[in-house]
Amino acid sequence: MTSFKEFAQACKEIELTSGSLDMISLVADLFHSVTLEELPVVTHFVMGEIFPAWSAEEVGIGAGILYSALAKSAGVSVEDIEDIVRHTGDIGKTAVLALDKKSQGQSTFSSFLEEDHELSIMEVFERFKDISRISGKGAQTSKIKNLQYLFNSASSKEVGYISLLAIEELRIGVGEGIVRDAIGLAFDVSSEDVGRGFMLTNDMGLVALTARQGGSEALSKLGLELNRPIKLMLAQITPSLESALSNMDEAAIEWKFDGARVQIHKDGDDVVLYSRRLEDITQSLPDIVEAVKKYVKVDTAILDGEAVAIDSDGMPRPFQDILKRFRRKYDVNSTAREIPLTLNLFDIMYLNGQSLIDMSLIERRELLNSSVENDASIRVDTQVVTKDPEEINRIYTKALNGGHEGIMIKNPNSPYSPGKRGKNWLKKKPVMETLDLIVIGAEWGYGRRTSFMGSYALACHDSDTGNFLPVGKVATGFSDEQLSELTDIFSDLIVMEYGKEIELKPEVVFEVAFEEIQKSTNYESGYALRFPRLVNIRDDKSVEDVETIERIEAMYRLQRERN
Ligand code: AMP
Repeated sequence: MTSFKEFAQACKEIELTSGSLDMISLVADLFHSVTLEELPVVTHFVMGEIFPAWSAEEVGIGAGILYSALAKSAGVSVEDIEDIVRHTGDIGKTAVLALDKKSQGQSTFSSFLEEDHELSIMEVFERFKDISRISGKGAQTSKIKNLQYLFNSASSKEVGYISLLAIEELRIGVGEGIVRDAIGLAFDVSSEDVGRGFMLTNDMGLVALTARQGGSEALSKLGLELNRPIKLMLAQITPSLESALSNMDEAAIEWKFDGARVQIHKDGDDVVLYSRRLEDITQSLPDIVEAVKKYVKVDTAILDGEAVAIDSDGMPRPFQDILKRFRRKYDVNSTAREIPLTLNLFDIMYLNGQSLIDMSLIERRELLNSSVENDASIRVDTQVVTKDPEEINRIYTKALNGGHEGIMIKNPNSPYSPGKRGKNWLKKKPVMETLDLIVIGAEWGYGRRTSFMGSYALACHDSDTGNFLPVGKVATGFSDEQLSELTDIFSDLIVMEYGKEIELKPEVVFEVAFEEIQKSTNYESGYALRFPRLVNIRDDKSVEDVETIERIEAMYRLQRERN
């Protein structure tokens, strides 16, 4: 059994290391040193996660709960904790300082525990698991008590890391790439095999355990499984049709439907639906569940598609209407009558016990067509395989006239690559671009809006370092209703507050329009958006969908060429 103290020590060492090879070797040592049972937990912990990426489980601890638990354990007020946060600018240090003060003073809860009791990694994990199951009335108080228990059983070396894990903000610089290579090094398997295992299972803990127990052979047997959602394949924007076609002999053209993505797992009469962020949304969409049961004529399948809301005149309704359906937890049937959905299926990844992801798009499409009977509620739209630009332009115009976003240009010979945004799926939309950016901070408003967060700091993604780079702030385009809703959502995501400034957990994606992109020294990205305004809160999108700095740079160059 490994103590949490040992895990905390390993984190400290990793944190102090800068070279990625040294980091990989430290993480590999850690993976080696723990028991089989602990390995999946430690694999998630070092990445700052508590549960695997595919899992719907969440600890649900934000700054509010964490500060209260720290305050109670330290015997001080929440304001005192906020003061220390302001002073240190760091949650881990705050926890250590606050609880250190306590240990010099009054007797602690831990004095009731067995002497020499060392908190183990599994105890911390089990406690987080208990916390994730708490819901309903009194949930907040109960979560605080559970966290307090952890703090009171831990030493000052551990409390910082417990706090950071609780809010899933460990930030010791260990991401997917480091863990992939560390599993390879620790258990003598190739990083490619580890990467493939992760792509198919979406569970690094399971991959680490499999590699340790059965090496490459066991890894190669990992596959897709029903009810364990995989990351979705993503699309790149194409600057022009010519450049899109230059990469393909022929192209498979589909309409780009303006809706929200759904991943469908069908196991006989059991149907589970996942959103683009892999949340289970089955309860909200009973009409889609029924349509899948009735019109998908195969026993088991994993399918990919876009749900759209169509008006009585056949035009797609605004994206906000679709989100109303996706978010709905109560009165789902009346909302379903008000906003009926059509599910446009465009891919199939698994059929009757077999994974199809290595097959070509054309082969998968044939299987998809023969698996689904088209109806108003669920359908496989036409796909045209061609290399004729005129024909493609005709389809494009028709899609836009039908109120859709544009077209998808797909490589007919390509496999299904979960989580990849490559050149095999390209999207073509009209010139007016919006950007999907992550919200990393906010500011409390002024005047009429003091109780709302009124201005939001936006960032793009740097895929080399995994960091988010600020590109500006958006404060317009919000209705009062949206501001109040956003303040609610973001209250659970506060990492730290300094005066009016708030640092937020990077989870929410805003789609913003803007006048132009400018070079700027004010923001770390080197760019700033001129006149940004909110178009949509994209709560169907996740961190993977956020624009990269390369994309911002490319758009900046394109804009200069146009002007
Ligand atoms: P974007 O949201 O701009 O990154 O564009 C990619 C998204 O378009 C996908 O994630 C899907 O949600 C959506 N989409 C609509 N129609 C299709 C289609 N025929 N094939 C693939 N994705 C589609």
